[in-house]
Amino acid sequence: MLLGLSFFTVIPLTVYLLVFLSWFLITACGSFFIRWNYHYKSLHSNKSIKDNLVAITFDDGPHPEYTPQVLELLKKHNAKATFFCVGKQVQKNPDLFKAIIDGGHTVGNHTYTHVRSFGFFNEEEVSKELLKTIDLVKNISGLQMKLYRPAFGVTNPSIEKSVKKLNLTSIGWNVRSLDTTPRNENMVLKRITSKISKGDIVLLHDTSEKSVRVLERLLLFLDEKKLESVTVDQILQIKAYE
Ligand SMILES: [Zn+2]
Repeated sequence: MLLGLSFFTVIPLTVYLLVFLSWFLITACGSFFIRWNYHYKSLHSNKSIKDNLVAITFDDGPHPEYTPQVLELLKKHNAKATFFCVGKQVQKNPDLFKAIIDGGHTVGNHTYTHVRSFGFFNEEEVSKELLKTIDLVKNISGLQMKLYRPAFGVTNPSIEKSVKKLNLTSIGWNVRSLDTTPRNENMVLKRITSKISKGDIVLLHDTSEKSVRVLERLLLFLDEKKLESVTVDQILQIKAYE
């Protein structure tokens, strides 16, 4: 548009710079704020659901110390959850991974390495990571995973192409606990309980003692409010596996 206008009038260089900067900022924010659905659509909640259901999700496991504690707590409260697993963690803890499935929970893909540079990978590299975890899980459990939780919540055109090519469903969240930040247990719990209502998808991580303690209190809170935690595929009424 600016180029077209430049045939009729002189446009100062600063205007070009401002337009470029705005585009850059919007794209950068769109890549980091998954709920904007800027690059492609992720599913974040199901507010039209009639029943009193929420979906608790755990990223980055399975963790040999904390995942068993999480599974125990969920069992105690008769709650189901979704675990977005990192492939190399599954490789290290195959029995724990099977215990998640045996507990009636859903498993999804959260890359193979979860490296910080994942957001800079090209489409081929992204697909390689996602397929490695899909194949590993298929070998261990026979399940072909369809759900993908973006690592670091980052989306971009390479990830978009890969998700489409592999026919995956991208799952976000609408209640972010921030349990991996220095916030203490009370602050993390309050972030969730102050806004949670039916149809919500909560993001937690099964990778720290703090998150386990938050889960313990959150499950008591949900019992009190008559909210039941189910898997994301149940709350979104979609398929988790091929
Ligand atoms: Zn993660």
